[in-house]
Amino acid sequence: MFTLDARMERAKYGAMAQTVLTIDLAALRHNWRSLSANSDTETGAVVKADAYGLGAGRVANMLAIEGVRRFFVALAEEGAALRKALGSGPEINVFSGHMAGDAPLLKAAQLTPMINSVDQMLRHVEALPGHSFGIQLDTGMNRLGMEPSEWSALREIALAQHPTLVMSHLACADEPTHEMNARQLHVFQQMTDGIDAPRSLAATGGILLGPDYHFDVTRPGIGMYGGQPFDDARPVVQLSIPVIQTRDVAIGESVGYGNSWVAQGVTRVATIAAGYADGILRAMGPRAHVYVGDTRCKIIGRISMDLIAVDVSALKTAPDTVDLLGRHQDIDTLAEAAGTIGYEILTSLGARYERRYTGA
Ligand SMILES: *Cc1c(COP(=O)(O)O)cnc(C)c1O
Repeated sequence: MFTLDARMERAKYGAMAQTVLTIDLAALRHNWRSLSANSDTETGAVVKADAYGLGAGRVANMLAIEGVRRFFVALAEEGAALRKALGSGPEINVFSGHMAGDAPLLKAAQLTPMINSVDQMLRHVEALPGHSFGIQLDTGMNRLGMEPSEWSALREIALAQHPTLVMSHLACADEPTHEMNARQLHVFQQMTDGIDAPRSLAATGGILLGPDYHFDVTRPGIGMYGGQPFDDARPVVQLSIPVIQTRDVAIGESVGYGNSWVAQGVTRVATIAAGYADGILRAMGPRAHVYVGDTRCKIIGRISMDLIAVDVSALKTAPDTVDLLGRHQDIDTLAEAAGTIGYEILTSLGARYERRYTGA
């Protein structure tokens, strides 16, 4: 990450070599609003992993103005950083619950752990009696939360202490016709019917499954950030990478490591200033494109650590920058080229990018 000093130094000399990640907070706000309009219940926001790489402080502050009262993070450390950015007020829920050594952070930052086991419950009431907590139940994903037998042993004691939320997570919500969805819904209902505490089952995918899945609070993440399975999402990120150098390559010449690409015709090649060290997954190389305005340009040869070669033969003039993400290409298109999911594209976005926010 460039320090402010380094950036000022660069600005002084008019340097332009840094890749710019533009985060459109207006698009993010629009996506949160449309997800929220899908249900009649409270809509929270998941900002774990630094808001999927987009900056938890900026994103959460904007969402707090929108009216979000419950935020979700993965770890107590993330929660503590978020509390600094948000100030007191909104609830910050921690999915990993109350882990050994967490008590001072949970207390100082007023975080609400989602308790995952009897052990965590004991640790919590012992270390922080009277401190808020929620409950995470496992309804079949077998990842986090109490299983039905554990929950039935603890249920009455836990409910008597007024958890702020009782939640579970769906394993297959991005596949609306998967039978697992109804199965988990049924288990969740069995485990929680009749309780007073607010209930939550749906992330982005669950919101789109319909009202049966909404309960009292929803927890969207990826849909806000512009990703599948939310088809109507507006793209939130644009990634513009500067061109360092352009050259003409003759027939039979190769480009990049391993000579994996060989020119079939005279080709104009632009070398751009980003690579796999910036989270541009090397695996996407052979199938990925960048855009210059409306023109699609193919990535050629192997993606290097800090550099990528692009075929810009279709352009009349050499471009100053190319876009890897933006109007023409979203995170899911890139994910497909790399054989992964939009979540991984976002959370891999590099530390060397300059992050700019628009639409605040
Ligand atoms: C990450 C996560 C979410 C958000 O999921 P999206 O698919 O990004 O909407 C919600 N709940 C839990 C428990 C999560 O881990």
